[in-house]
Amino acid sequence: MHCPFCGAIDTKVIDSRLVTEGNHVRRRRECITCEERFTTYESAELVMPRIIKQGGIREPFNEDKLMAGLTKALEKRPVSIEKVEEAITRIKASLRATGEREIQSRDVGEQVMKELRNLDEVAFVRFASVYRSFKDLNEFRAEIDRLSQDNIK
Ligand SMILES: [Zn+2]
Repeated sequence: MHCPFCGAIDTKVIDSRLVTEGNHVRRRRECITCEERFTTYESAELVMPRIIKQGGIREPFNEDKLMAGLTKALEKRPVSIEKVEEAITRIKASLRATGEREIQSRDVGEQVMKELRNLDEVAFVRFASVYRSFKDLNEFRAEIDRLSQDNIK
């Protein structure tokens, strides 16, 4: 952190504290060269990666779209909105945790499948059958078997 007053490279932190429910860290700094004091704020970058669609088109991550997809798969299923919101929070966290600035839409789809598998089997099958567009029923069964085995591990 360069000094905003004299441009010196070395500044030291003289005080550091969490503000606004722990989302930011406020740091009081002092320039070693000119001894001016200033404050910096640090917060986690919560920007979602951009989504790379088939054909290479990039678009911003869209939470409403994700919610719509989950809701559609869960239509008339006994799953509360709280559970769906928790699933979305986990999906977003895992996408951010990749540290990537851009992410393949199929990776998002895999995350959605993982969450649906835990939420509701019928919804999972609905989503998977559309998402994977299986060529035949045997291929679909094989995928279900593979995923159930993953579940047991
Ligand atoms: Zn300075």
